[in-house]
Amino acid sequence: MLGGGVLGLSTAVELLRGGTEVLLLTEGKVGSGASGRSLAWLNAGGAYSDPYFRLRMAGIDRYRTLLAQHPGADWLAFNGGLYWDDDPFAVIERHNRQTREGYEARMLARDAAASAVPGIDPGVLPHRVLVNPGEGWVALPQLLRLLAEEFTVRGGTLVEDAGLCSLLTGPDGRAAGVRTAAGEEFGAGTVVVACGAGTPAVLAEAGVELPDASDPAVLLISEPLEHGLQAVLNTPRISVRPHPGGRLAMDHTWYLDLVQRREDGSWDVPADVLQEAAAEASRLLAGNPEVRVQSWHAGLKPVPGDGDPVLGELRALPGCWAVFTHSGATLGLIAGELVADEILSGRRHPLLEPFRPERFSFGWES
Ligand SMILES: Cc1cc2nc3c(=O)[nH]c(=O)nc-3n(C[C@H](O)[C@H](O)[C@H](O)COP(=O)(O)OP(=O)(O)OC[C@H]3O[C@@H](n4cnc5c(N)ncnc54)[C@H](O)[C@@H]3O)c2cc1C
Repeated sequence: MLGGGVLGLSTAVELLRGGTEVLLLTEGKVGSGASGRSLAWLNAGGAYSDPYFRLRMAGIDRYRTLLAQHPGADWLAFNGGLYWDDDPFAVIERHNRQTREGYEARMLARDAAASAVPGIDPGVLPHRVLVNPGEGWVALPQLLRLLAEEFTVRGGTLVEDAGLCSLLTGPDGRAAGVRTAAGEEFGAGTVVVACGAGTPAVLAEAGVELPDASDPAVLLISEPLEHGLQAVLNTPRISVRPHPGGRLAMDHTWYLDLVQRREDGSWDVPADVLQEAAAEASRLLAGNPEVRVQSWHAGLKPVPGDGDPVLGELRALPGCWAVFTHSGATLGLIAGELVADEILSGRRHPLLEPFRPERFSFGWES
């Protein structure tokens, strides 16, 4: 198993629950990739294909079960989502589509929305706003700790700081194991590549091209503050959710053009971007408490070339599964469960059929 993010760990834990031995190698520390800096809004509210909508709903279902098992958790909640856009017609269309799909969606007048979503300043809301009571959020670092604990208890072997690992291929053309950056080799009959935005590079080295649209993203974490927010807010200038420790997690796309990646791979986020984002969050909150950014976390957000998840065994490299997706927080548990089920049972899972890697025509043997 390659990759110590939510997808690698959830797949690994499911494999261990199924009685298989698992060795997980990851470049740095567990959670050092996108899973350590995710807004992790749990939702199926966008314009998705039917199969993708179903998969996302199954993803949310698994988190609800997890919450029932951890009722006091401060890192996972289903207190709803609130959404608005500068284009009111886009919001109406979103509401209509969600209603057709059976996704819980209410267009509420400003005051009703403010009562349904405590912690927001009603004065900032447009006349009507979309509320999705079934949405939630998760703090992935806390989930990773839980998964890593179970991984260890069940006898999994974790190798952190393995550097950029590569795949080993046998003379029969099947995946045969992995090699660490330092050259140490580990044989394995099955390999899962869950390297987030690094997945296309790992597969390209093995001769398999996977279209990649991974993009920079920056998560901001506030200092602790008094706020009554429980839901996830997705608004034209900022997305905000509660974060453990009385903090807020914030994210948006408007500032990405101002974020720079230096030659040494590190990132630079201008101070005025941090201030502007924090001020926007403060403006949204009831009582307008001061929001101060305590830390920011920049890096690539994994996105497959066509936007849909890539989940399944590679036809061009039997024995190797790719687990590469956008919205990997929402899919974190379900993708691991279904991929592990395929590996353990040897049967292709019908929910994964639309998301096979071989849908990309180039670079594949048919
Ligand atoms: C700012 C931001 C906001 C987001 N918002 C949402 C959201 O609201 N809802 C949602 O569902 N999703 C969201 N996502 C996406 C989601 O967080 C990711 O899809 C998910 O965390 C990806 O998990 P992963 O396990 O695939 O990858 P990662 O967490 O990136 O883990 C992959 C690991 O593999 C390691 N690795 C890479 N290459 C190699 C190699 N060659 N050898 C060994 N190890 C390697 C990396 O170091 C990394 O630790 C967001 C992401 C970001 C960054």
